[in-house]
Amino acid sequence: MATGLTLRTNSETQLPAFFYRLSSRAQRTWLKSDTVERYDYVPNDAARNSLDALMRVLETGNLAGCTTCARALAAEICRGLATAPVSVEVRGVRPRNQRGELHGLFYPYDPRIRRPPYIVLWMRTAQRHDVVKPKTFVRTLMHEVGHYLDYALLRLEDSYHTQGFFKRESSLVRALFNS
Ligand SMILES: [Zn+2]
Repeated sequence: MATGLTLRTNSETQLPAFFYRLSSRAQRTWLKSDTVERYDYVPNDAARNSLDALMRVLETGNLAGCTTCARALAAEICRGLATAPVSVEVRGVRPRNQRGELHGLFYPYDPRIRRPPYIVLWMRTAQRHDVVKPKTFVRTLMHEVGHYLDYALLRLEDSYHTQGFFKRESSLVRALFNS
């Protein structure tokens, strides 16, 4: 670990090899990401209604309806955390590559073309074209929202898959389903 750091991280005893290949600036970002374990987020009625609507529309497999509801839920979470909203696009069948099928993607703000950040999610499995289980879809949405929040809320320069990141993702999922 870099010297002079007093942060207690989730991965202190087992930093991934990847970490040591980062610049010291990127290491600081990584460690900050790993240190934050949750958001101060409590869903309000609007967020709960958006979640219910999304869960119901996913059962129908309606792409336009899923898009509307996924956008509404993401917007409510952003509002609840006092950040600007993030664009969400839902597509049909998940693309596949050698590593498996893609569930979702987050595109950070691109300063070269001034493209705002956005999220892409797929709602059908690659093999059988089944609609993804609603809870899985919501977890994927929270994963990608988590990437967005790394920049928009935590002001990190990059978004890494640290243990802290996954804990934050789980804290959002728990907040939604246990409220
Ligand atoms: Zn990710």
